[in-house]
Amino acid sequence: MNTYFDPEKSRNAPFTMSRKGFLQTAGIMAVGAAGGLAAACESKGQNPSYPVATTSNYTSEGGQQVPSSPAFSPPAKVPGDFDKPIVLEEWKSDADRKPAPTPNPLPSDQRIGYAVVGLGHLSLEEILPALAACKKSKIAALVSGNPEKLKHVAQQYGVKPESCYSYETYDKLKDNPEVQVIYIVLPNSMHAEYTIRGAQAGKHILCEKPMANSAAECQAMIDACKKANRQLMIAYRIQYEPFNLYIREKIQASEFGKPKFIDAYNCQSSANPQHWRHIKALAGGGALPDIGLYCLNTTRFILGEEPTEVYATVYSDPENPLFKEVEEFCSWQMKFPSGVIANCATHYHVHESRKYRVMAERGWYDLDNAYAYTGQKLMTSRADGEMVRQENVSIMPKNQFGAEMDYFSECIIEDRPAYSTGEEGLQDQRIMEAIYQSARERRPIKLALIEKKDAFRGPRSFNQKA
Ligand code: NAD
Repeated sequence: MNTYFDPEKSRNAPFTMSRKGFLQTAGIMAVGAAGGLAAACESKGQNPSYPVATTSNYTSEGGQQVPSSPAFSPPAKVPGDFDKPIVLEEWKSDADRKPAPTPNPLPSDQRIGYAVVGLGHLSLEEILPALAACKKSKIAALVSGNPEKLKHVAQQYGVKPESCYSYETYDKLKDNPEVQVIYIVLPNSMHAEYTIRGAQAGKHILCEKPMANSAAECQAMIDACKKANRQLMIAYRIQYEPFNLYIREKIQASEFGKPKFIDAYNCQSSANPQHWRHIKALAGGGALPDIGLYCLNTTRFILGEEPTEVYATVYSDPENPLFKEVEEFCSWQMKFPSGVIANCATHYHVHESRKYRVMAERGWYDLDNAYAYTGQKLMTSRADGEMVRQENVSIMPKNQFGAEMDYFSECIIEDRPAYSTGEEGLQDQRIMEAIYQSARERRPIKLALIEKKDAFRGPRSFNQKA
């Protein structure tokens, strides 16, 4: 059985309507005679007419003849402002899944300008292409230590030469009014410095995960942003991804009873011991802060709870130069106040594998490619009398980077606090420090009991804003 869930659809519910409803709303009740004035009539709320089928020809200057049809604009509902989509005439039957609403980007001069700092894999492969397709965000500046790459990327994305900066001229961003947000996409050890300098330059900060390499650095970043009265958001893209949002929503509603046990792992393979990810001073650790963090943060996110105890093991192949400084493997258990146990693991030297399963009293959710950029596959299972019902749930995919940037831009435009805050990043850092301590000391480590739900996240209505 296949179930389709479309968060875009439910969010824009007032703008999805039947053809009859559409025609009534648009004030169009009849389809009639010839159509030259149709577009003009439509924008004045009058009844447009479909053109009569025609057999005339268009003759080019060279004498070629091709069929000619009169141009016509079918009925469309054009909202007065830019936060609602244009609604086009429907033509598909209810038998198919409805298409998502038309995108409704803000005019360029109303979008939030981003300076992207560090032009490595994530920036070039994901963030810049996503920014180019954003609705509330746009690229406004670039920062790189490589002038050749900087010039090349600036030309590709239409960034002015005067909006290109080096790490030395980074602080001059304060004089660039087109930049409201600095997006830090640097090695982990550089997040704290560039966040603090960015806040001092008067800009809001979006910082890649892990937030930093220690809880002390995280706290300094939070303090600097507070002092500058700027927002700090950590780029936990999973918290803006529709499948993970769906699972969170269903768990919070106890769809299958109480969740009891979570099994989560995030694994990939690396090969370059020179890369910063394998140098402890730059990366802070190995598989755990880089990819294991997804298991940790997503588990906290879908439960809305904070662990009270962790118990961990770390292992590295002593012969492998990749793991001289950072761990190859880490597995840990977390206990939550509601009684949920999460079993998490991460590995840096196996074929990629990114998955979790939430087991509840009367069913389970199994998300494959759970932490990947694309390709999430959700299966659920539950008892139904003498049967077991299993469903593949299909959800409209969404660019996770675009979603998180537009969400942050929306917070800035509407002057409300971000969702995945600096405090959220700090909490992960505290837990990771406890995980390493547990592995070192070979014993469970207790964490402070936090009873408040979603204690470190900003306000957000999940049904409205994904
Ligand atoms: P990368 O090595 O590909 O790029 C980092 C860039 O930082 C380099 O290209 C370089 O331009 C710049 N840099 C400046 N000083 C440097 C130094 N001393 N050493 C190395 N590079 C230096 O790394 P990446 O994969 O783009 O990761 C960047 C950040 O993004 C990391 O914090 C990482 O954890 C995070 N990340 C997040 C996701 C996600 O899905 N959210 C995915 C990948 C990476």
